[in-house]
Amino acid sequence: MKFYSTNNPSLKVDLRQAVTQGLAPDNGLYMPERIPVLPKAFFDALPGISFEDMAFTVAQAIIGDDIPKEELQRIIKHTLQFDAPVVKVEEGVYSLELFHGPTLAFKDFGARFMSQLLGYFAKQQHQEIVILAATSGDTGSAVANGFLGVPGTRVVVLYPSGKVSEIQEKQFTTLEQNITALEVEGTFDDCQHLVKQAFLDADLKKKFFLTSANSINIARLIPQSFYYFYSFAKVQALKKPVVYSIPSGNFGNITGGLLAQRMGLPIHRFIAATNSNDVVPEYLKTQTFRPRPSQQTISNAMDVGNPSNFVRMLELFGKNFEALSKDIRGYAFSDEETQQAMRAVFAGQGYIMDPHGAIGYLGLKKYVQETKEDVTGIFLETAHPAKFKEVVEDTLGRTIEIPPALQKFMQGKKKTIPATKEFAAFKDFLLTKF
Ligand SMILES: *Cc1c(COP(=O)(O)O)cnc(C)c1O
Repeated sequence: MKFYSTNNPSLKVDLRQAVTQGLAPDNGLYMPERIPVLPKAFFDALPGISFEDMAFTVAQAIIGDDIPKEELQRIIKHTLQFDAPVVKVEEGVYSLELFHGPTLAFKDFGARFMSQLLGYFAKQQHQEIVILAATSGDTGSAVANGFLGVPGTRVVVLYPSGKVSEIQEKQFTTLEQNITALEVEGTFDDCQHLVKQAFLDADLKKKFFLTSANSINIARLIPQSFYYFYSFAKVQALKKPVVYSIPSGNFGNITGGLLAQRMGLPIHRFIAATNSNDVVPEYLKTQTFRPRPSQQTISNAMDVGNPSNFVRMLELFGKNFEALSKDIRGYAFSDEETQQAMRAVFAGQGYIMDPHGAIGYLGLKKYVQETKEDVTGIFLETAHPAKFKEVVEDTLGRTIEIPPALQKFMQGKKKTIPATKEFAAFKDFLLTKF
């Protein structure tokens, strides 16, 4: 399979280049040049296929022969070391729990798959790959844990000192091995700026094979289609149209679902659910895309004002607004509505939602209320409630348990390298002390 840049369809590269570059040289995002439709036999057999086998079929269809079969099988086995259960919350409403991975958020799927693919390519090229990751919290933990101990790779996580929660910080500052955490005296934007400057620096490019691990990498997108197939198989016996509601920030998760639909999975409709950062729901109403600075909310992993995967969504619909707005509905919700939903679902069903999942839940309810359709609704529960402990405890007025996987991180000893936002110092660190 070849991958083209959304800025220039004639710029095509192979999987290795797409994954090691991340962003295309013309700043476009890579897309597969065609999306194969899986055979009817696959869909007929779906409920009986294991998660791993399902994922393998899907990945191989997109990736083709760029990775040997045994290697791809190994990568998928490594990625899917945990389940993605579908839990009934109320009549017609199901939660797809994507938080059973090591860092308790759905980003584990993408980060684990990507780390294994990059590890494979690192072996091929006999040069270590250095991954620079600026983070405001969740990405850093998923990426650091995904790459931990992967031969041929080293990760530098840059994060704003004092601006991530203790739980998040511990998840990428206690690991050691091939993971280095730079504690930057500055903001998330300063961290991101340092990374961007590094990619433009000739001396660094000469010494290191640099890449980034942000959500635009095609290797993070592919595994995000796996769990749509897996969850669909679990509810298809209900014989109702299946609607997915996806709490969205950069819109990578929903793009994984659109990919699954293009491969033939008969998803009835998608709901793009956001917090007050409602650039995409607004676009779906007005046909005007108006990116703007993000606003802070309690579902902070979705505080994105210029969603990077939006161009991929457009691309999947041939830039046709009619087609896109038919398949995707958009709704936005305030913090207050989010907290009300968390309280109502806990009081009524005893189910604890994190603030992100709660927005997915609200999207589903609003869709059913508006359309009166009789559907099976699945909302993506993207993080374990304990990851947003303070907000959840405040909202529900009770303490919640921290799962053992998180407790283990909390016991680790934080180890970071202090840094400033000056690029010269960052460069010197990489060249002389790294
Ligand atoms: C990253 C994240 C999201 C948003 O996912 P996108 O793919 O960026 O739309 C939602 N919830 C949680 C918990 C996240 O970490």
